[in-house]
Amino acid sequence: MPLRHSVLDSVVLVGRGWDGLMTAWLTEDDIRPADLFAAYLELVGLDVDAYFADTDRRPIACPACDNAGEPVFAKLGFDFRE
Ligand SMILES: [Zn+2]
Repeated sequence: MPLRHSVLDSVVLVGRGWDGLMTAWLTEDDIRPADLFAAYLELVGLDVDAYFADTDRRPIACPACDNAGEPVFAKLGFDFRE
C-alpha cells in the first residue's frame, strides 16, 4: 500500500473490520482491469449489433426537461447529447 496517493487516480475504500477501521487504496486497475474492460466493451458491441442493428434511431429529448441537447459524442453507433 503506497504511503502517498493521488485522489485523482484512486478511490479509498473505508470499512469496519474485526480490528476496527480499515482502509485500502484502490487504483483504476483494481476497479476496472484494462483487459477485462476491453472484453466487456467487445461484448457490449456484439449486443448492440444483435439488438439494434435493424432499429431506426432517432433523437429523443431529455425525459426530465424536454431539452433536445447538443451532440457531445458517439459510441457504439449511438449519438449522445447533453
Ligand atoms: Zn434534461
